[in-house]
Amino acid sequence: SDKQYADIHIGIKNTLMMLIYKIKKGNITMVKEFDQTLPPVNAMIGELNQVWTNLIDNALDAMEPNGKGTLTIKTKKDREFVRVYIIDDGPGIPDEIKSRIFDPFFTTKEMGKGTGMGLEVVHRIVHQHNGSIKVKSEPGRTEFIVCFPIDG
Ligand code: ADP
Ligand code: MG
Repeated sequence: SDKQYADIHIGIKNTLMMLIYKIKKGNITMVKEFDQTLPPVNAMIGELNQVWTNLIDNALDAMEPNGKGTLTIKTKKDREFVRVYIIDDGPGIPDEIKSRIFDPFFTTKEMGKGTGMGLEVVHRIVHQHNGSIKVKSEPGRTEFIVCFPIDG
């Protein structure tokens, strides 16, 4: 297949560089807690980077109205999996929409600002890689946890 062993940290750093303008404009503090023992993951690199891009972009959008925020990205090796945590201190996801955020075309953003496809794409890519995604959110905090098998 077109899979290869990819360094997750490099992919995340590249994504952050792509989004640096939005990070600076949003007055965002970055916290990186990278597990230095994280092994490379057998995956489609471009697809993996699309996952980080869509999740981080949403986190930045969520914090934007505050004019500041903290974006925390953690990685962790857990047996035959790697886990990536993307955490923001935006408003959180209201309970009544939690079950719909992965649906295609679901967006709460104003016309022209969101397509509602970001999380649909994330969900598809994660499952193509036999991974999983979870979201935990409360007022003032949202956490997306992506889990990929190391050997794909
Ligand atoms: P879009 O970003 O185009 O709206 P997404 O599929 O990326 O579409 O996200 C769907 C919806 O999920 C968003 O419109 C928003 O309501 C919600 N959402 C996603 N991530 C977050 C987050 N980190 N904080 C709060 N809400 C979020
Ligand atoms: Mg989005």
